[in-house]
Amino acid sequence: MAARRLGYRVHTLAPDHDTPTGQIADVEINASYDDMDAVRAFAQAVDVVTFEFENVSAEAVAEAERHAIVRPNGRSLAVAQHRLKEKSFLVEHGLPVAPFAAVRNDRDLAAAAGIAGCPSILKTATSGYDGKGQIKVDTPADLGAAWDALGRRDAVLEAFVDLDREISVIGARGVGGEWSHFGPIENAHVRHILDVSVTPASVPDVTATLAVDAVRRIMEALDFVGILCVEFFIARDGRLLVNELAPRPHNSGHLTFDACRTSQFEQQLRAVCGLPLGSPDMLQPAAAMANLLGDLWEDGEPNWAAALALPDIKLHLYGKSAPRPGRKMGHLTVLAASPEEAKQRVLQARRTLRQV
Ligand code: AMP
Repeated sequence: MAARRLGYRVHTLAPDHDTPTGQIADVEINASYDDMDAVRAFAQAVDVVTFEFENVSAEAVAEAERHAIVRPNGRSLAVAQHRLKEKSFLVEHGLPVAPFAAVRNDRDLAAAAGIAGCPSILKTATSGYDGKGQIKVDTPADLGAAWDALGRRDAVLEAFVDLDREISVIGARGVGGEWSHFGPIENAHVRHILDVSVTPASVPDVTATLAVDAVRRIMEALDFVGILCVEFFIARDGRLLVNELAPRPHNSGHLTFDACRTSQFEQQLRAVCGLPLGSPDMLQPAAAMANLLGDLWEDGEPNWAAALALPDIKLHLYGKSAPRPGRKMGHLTVLAASPEEAKQRVLQARRTLRQV
């Protein structure tokens, strides 16, 4: 939609039919990301390729790069889609992460609990999101069964962090290295899935500065062009730790649609098309976003009119047809004078969706 507004035509490639992007694109190609003929035909027909899903193989990215400009670059995707590569990259660049150990074989497994400690979380190295591919491990004796449950795939054992809160910072970097960010956003998760995001995050200035600097350093080190979201843990003892990188517009940034002069999607478009970045300034002092998961449809269609009767509430539905539990179907946003007010109002609006 951001591309259309700026007069671009859009092609999309995805394995599914009638995807949210496909519904508004000029051309929708339905093919597996590993179908090299489809990737080639897709890339030959466009000028610039970008992503809203990072688990695309290195081969597919390389094929697309032979025919079109691909931003962000393949290295950024490779680092962000593999937890071990990601953590090694962060450590190499002096960025703080929770203690972790690689688990690739039985020998690694035997040593892992001694390195990461317990409790800890075993996470598959690839293809995990929203808590999928993760198992909490309370004692070293549980580790073997947890790895079996993950199919003995390459994994990372990560120390369980006693969390004070979680924040994310979304950075944008253009082709000439120009840089911008949306400021720390505070995120609350339920069952490992993002539930509510509020900006500005209530963190000390020094923590905000450290987080923003970390994002800039990561983007420069990767020569990243586009949008990068970095998720951080803030431990109860005040330590700021990098959790993970998402090399694309991120759920926590969906409030920028309504809250900022330039949304994260427009910013991504500007960056990957080699245009100047837009202003990320907020239109009001604070904003909040509440996710709408498929669970909301449990008792039938949510009461949209009840939420929209609150005139400041903005409703975004993505056009996904099957409201499965845990599936992100849309979100609500609201702007307000303070983060707390924004949060209370967006939660109130979400509650009204269940009114009969
Ligand atoms: P992830 O997919 O790795 O971002 O994990 C999803 C959510 O699970 C995070 O946003 C946290 O709320 C929680 N989580 C993941 N890893 C840890 C950890 N090492 N310590 C505490 N909570 C975690």
